[in-house]
Amino acid sequence: MILAIANQKGGVGKTTTAINLAAALAMRGKPTLLVDLDPQGNSSMSYLDIREAAKSMYDVFVDKDVRLADVIMPSSQPNLSIAPARIALAKLESRLTGELDAPFRLKDELGALNGQFHNVVIDCPPALGLLTVNALVASTHLLIPIQSSYFALEGTDDLLETIEKVRQRPNPELEILGVVITMHDKRTALARDIQEQIRKVFGDKVFRTVISKSVRLEESPAYRESIFTFAPDSTGAAEYYSLCEEVIDRA
Ligand code: ATP
Ligand code: MG
Repeated sequence: MILAIANQKGGVGKTTTAINLAAALAMRGKPTLLVDLDPQGNSSMSYLDIREAAKSMYDVFVDKDVRLADVIMPSSQPNLSIAPARIALAKLESRLTGELDAPFRLKDELGALNGQFHNVVIDCPPALGLLTVNALVASTHLLIPIQSSYFALEGTDDLLETIEKVRQRPNPELEILGVVITMHDKRTALARDIQEQIRKVFGDKVFRTVISKSVRLEESPAYRESIFTFAPDSTGAAEYYSLCEEVIDRA
């Protein structure tokens, strides 16, 4: 499975979902790759010191001599490897304008890994530009985190439109695996209303598992750990474990 985690809305839980889902998949004993496509490098930083990375995804995109395999680093977690991102990735769009194969670079590079990884999780930036398009073109499945907030559904039309465009041509196989509601506070009536609204729009695409608001989930990246080693008995660990089960069942 090559799973893109995308939503162009910022701060909705893409990275938190990507890092913990990748960890949950790795815990099942199969080699898992987390590809960081966000110039902010948040998912890279959650597992390694990116200053130690000689090369990053930026080099893979712009330098034909640098292959994806050259930038992949082991993480602090068994079976989990990281293809790190650095701020340079923000320059990518302008560097690759006019290059016809630009949207296909990640797909080609993942293909060149020859199935070395059983699962690949791609953390997308909060934009619908070239990086997210690369992820959508390269992926078999897509997971959309939606934050349990008043403006939750704003912008999802643009995302769905982009997905449709990618499906019409470069990647007809791309499947929306599901929508996961994040940062949910089940004590409030508003959050319950929002959940209902999201389920009305996306129907059974919405995962049964809802990710609650949890300080533990915010803390774990600072210690370069997944929620499963940082706070194994927390609600966040249980919820991301259960999300992973649903992802595997659906894929
Ligand atoms: P960006 O669009 O900037 O890449 P993102 O969609 O990747 O953001 P995250 O970085 O995962 O979103 O989350 C945004 C902030 O909310 C972070 O500080 C994160 O620690 C926090 N956060 C994410 N999920 C939860 C949660 N379930 N409970 C509490 N805090 C959370
Ligand atoms: Mg992020």
